[in-house]
Amino acid sequence: MDNCLFCKIARGEIPSGKVYEDDELFAFHDINPARPVHILVIPRRHITSLATVSEADIPLLGRMLAVANRLAAENGSPDGFRVIINSGRVGQQEVQHLHAHVVGGPDPVGPMLKRA
Ligand code: 5GP
Ligand code: ZN
Repeated sequence: MDNCLFCKIARGEIPSGKVYEDDELFAFHDINPARPVHILVIPRRHITSLATVSEADIPLLGRMLAVANRLAAENGSPDGFRVIINSGRVGQQEVQHLHAHVVGGPDPVGPMLKRA
């Protein structure tokens, strides 16, 4: 995807605070962190959303979560963390390239969602 922001970040065309990369995944600091630790884990390959994944993506999705665990521990959130994947219109996903937010820090991150 030529014009996708996170594809460009994964290709190194736009600078980011990279924390991890391998042949399938790329991880970097969120530009507007919501907690002391706020890392985004993305697939290098363009996948629009968790709302559009297929069965073939299962191993990749598993790897995203396993890497999230390690990155949280290594980057200042050793006692747990939260993974958030906003998906589609209802999930209020803003960037249309699948990404897992890994948030944490020294203190608990707060309630999961405000009850409507
Ligand atoms: P969403 O709402 O799609 O789940 O989250 C998108 C996230 O991407 C937001 O937390 C936002 O701060 C982050 N973000 C948007 N543009 C950039 C950017 O250019 N660089 C980085 N590092 N993060 C970005
Ligand atoms: Zn993309």
